[in-house]
Amino acid sequence: MLTNSRLAYHNHDHKRCVNAALQRAQTLCNDSQARLTPIREAVLRTIWASHRPLGAYDIVDKMTLNGSSGKRIQAPTVYRAIEFLLEQGLVHRIASLNAYIGCPFPGNNHNDFFLICRACGSAAVCCAEQLSNMVSHTAERTGFKVEDQAIEIVGLCPECQETPNQPPENVVVKSKNNE
Ligand SMILES: [Zn+2]
Ligand SMILES: [Zn+2]
Repeated sequence: MLTNSRLAYHNHDHKRCVNAALQRAQTLCNDSQARLTPIREAVLRTIWASHRPLGAYDIVDKMTLNGSSGKRIQAPTVYRAIEFLLEQGLVHRIASLNAYIGCPFPGNNHNDFFLICRACGSAAVCCAEQLSNMVSHTAERTGFKVEDQAIEIVGLCPECQETPNQPPENVVVKSKNNE
């Protein structure tokens, strides 16, 4: 099974994730003769800003904020770029959050599932051949034609299990200064 959970849930040099993602995107698009235009690349970079899924509005906002012109990016332009990235398998849609996340394993025909932390919002992408096999096997047996699938698992990542962000009442939290 492939997963990027170690990166998604722990401190790391995220620039490397971004650079690797952009490089993979460039290679894949070259191979499939799809055009990774500057706007598409900018949207991909924005989605890869972190391991937290990002909604379409947030993507537009972030791009406007980061743009040099200060001009608002046209939402339809961003939506079209997202469509392209989805088609190329470079990003995935997290249905339960109506948000998007970069795929760390694009290019291999796989079924993904997601482990979404409800506290920090980080989502790890996992893909397992066994899962793909099970889905297609079940579909075959039942004569069902799969068009789309989303397996999204919600819980707490290792970091957030250790540092609950909302301590229950009556519990005195020792602040760092008192130590
Ligand atoms: Zn990262
Ligand atoms: Zn977390």
